[in-house]
Amino acid sequence: MNDQTSSITLPGGFGRAFVLTLREALEGAADDLGDLDRRAGDGDFGTNVRTAMKLLDATLEADPPTSYREWLTALYMAWLGVGGTSGPLFGMFFRDLAKAGEDAGADVPTVAQFADALAAGQATVQRYGEAKVGDKTMIDSLDPAITALRAALEADAETSAVEALFAAEDAAVEAATATAQTTARRGRASYVGDASQGVIDPGSAAMALVIGSARAGADGSGTVDLSWIA
Ligand code: ADP
Ligand code: MG
Repeated sequence: MNDQTSSITLPGGFGRAFVLTLREALEGAADDLGDLDRRAGDGDFGTNVRTAMKLLDATLEADPPTSYREWLTALYMAWLGVGGTSGPLFGMFFRDLAKAGEDAGADVPTVAQFADALAAGQATVQRYGEAKVGDKTMIDSLDPAITALRAALEADAETSAVEALFAAEDAAVEAATATAQTTARRGRASYVGDASQGVIDPGSAAMALVIGSARAGADGSGTVDLSWIA
C-alpha cells in the first residue's frame, strides 16, 4: 500500500454513525438471523444479537461515548456480555476494531488503519475459534471484505472511503449469501451437518451488516440493506 492511499480518512463522527447504524441493522435483522440459526444451528443467535444490543443501549444511556474508541468499546463490551459462540468472538473482534489507529492518536482511523484492524480482528477470531475460511462462519464474509477493501485502496489512490467500503460491503454480502452452498464445520451449526446446506450462515450475514454499517457510517446514510437475509 502506498503512502497516498494510507491517508484516506473516515469522516469525523464515524464511530458513532457506525455503531448506531449497526445497532439498527442488527435489531432489524435479529428475527431473520435467529431463524437462520434455527434452520442450521441451535436457534439462539437472534436472542444473542438482541441481548448484545440491549447491553449496548444500557451503556449508551449510562455512559455516552465521545470518541471512536469509546463507541467501539461500548460495542465490544456489550458482545462480551453475551453467550453462545458468537458473543465472545464478536466481542474480541470489535475490541480489535476499537484499537484501530490508536498508535496514530487521531480520533478516527484512516481507512487503511480500519482495514488493518478488521484483519487483526479476523486473526483473533481464527485464533480462538479455529475456523478456516469456508467453514461457514462469520469470517467467510469478513475475509473477502478485507481483500476487497485493500484492493480498492491499492487500485486507486484517489478513491474515497465510501467507494472503498462499498466494494467491501458488496464482497461481504456476496460471500455471506454464498455460505448457503457450504456445510458448517464450526459452532453448533456443525452438529446438523448437511442440514445447514441451503441456509445462509447467520454469523456471516451479521458480519456483512458490520461492513455495510461501516460503509453507511462513512457515507452518512445510516441505512443498510437487510432484504437479502432470509
Ligand atoms: P453457537 O454456534 O454457539 O450457537 P451463536 O448462535 O451465538 O453460536 O452464533 C452462531 C454464529 O457464530 C455462526 O453463524 C458462525 O458464523 C459463528 N461461529 C460459530 N462458531 C465459530 C467459530 N469457531 N469461528 C468463527 N465463527 C463461528
Ligand atoms: Mg446458535
